Amino acid sequence: DFDVSLPQLSNDELGELSHSIQTLANDLNRMKSERNEFLASVAHELSTPLTYIIGYSKVAMRDELDKQEREKYLAIIAEESNRLKVLVKNLLDLAKMDENSFTVTKERFPIKPFLEKLYSLVVPSYELKNIRLTLECKNDFEVEADPTRLEQIILNLLDNALKYSKENGQVILQAFQNEHKTIIKVIDAGIGIAQEEANRIFEKLYRVEKSRSREFGGSGLGLAIVKELVDAHDGTIHVESELGKGSTFTISI
Ligand code: ADP
Repeated sequence: DFDVSLPQLSNDELGELSHSIQTLANDLNRMKSERNEFLASVAHELSTPLTYIIGYSKVAMRDELDKQEREKYLAIIAEESNRLKVLVKNLLDLAKMDENSFTVTKERFPIKPFLEKLYSLVVPSYELKNIRLTLECKNDFEVEADPTRLEQIILNLLDNALKYSKENGQVILQAFQNEHKTIIKVIDAGIGIAQEEANRIFEKLYRVEKSRSREFGGSGLGLAIVKELVDAHDGTIHVESELGKGSTFTISI
């Protein structure tokens, strides 16, 4: 025999229970609408490049085009396909992170040669845009992190700093130790982010000024991935920014 009677609850306890159930129901509803919103954004992000690809492939097939014109349309198709590829890769990365099925394997390694390597990797793309990149790392010290993940974090930030820099701008990659933490800063003098937007840029698919994002490229997933990777290191990331003046992203791990 089962006893299915509920324990005797006082009115206070019943009130508390009903309050908890209500809170849970609200949370579930919020999660549901967030998920729907996310799916709608993903569908939108996927359909925009597809529209270009379909449209331009029809144009590129026209008989009357000369070689140069055809190449121009094929280049757009290639670029949009690449945009799709990056988007899908980022989505898969995020899905893995949500499942906790990606691993962070920490090791201790000296920061200076690590940053110097990243510096020489990105400096050519900076030079192409006439943006000066400076590495500031006075003392070498050891950092405990997953080198592949930390590289992904910093490359993402440097990529954004370049993308949102103004002509002849300058970007600083800085690293130092504070108590037992490693602080890494990426400082740019670019277009900046308004205060009310700054809190939201780490959300998935959030982009400031959606209309301008085609000009800059990107998927609005980079910083969401960065945030997940920093969290997986039990670290923190924050941004200080002023519209028109520039942004500073600070990681502490
Ligand atoms: P995206 O791929 O669009 O760059 P991110 O997730 O990397 O996506 O960034 C989200 C949004 O935050 C960007 O669309 C951009 O508006 C803003 N942002 C990110 N980094 C910077 C920066 N260094 N300066 C100005 N705006 C930035």
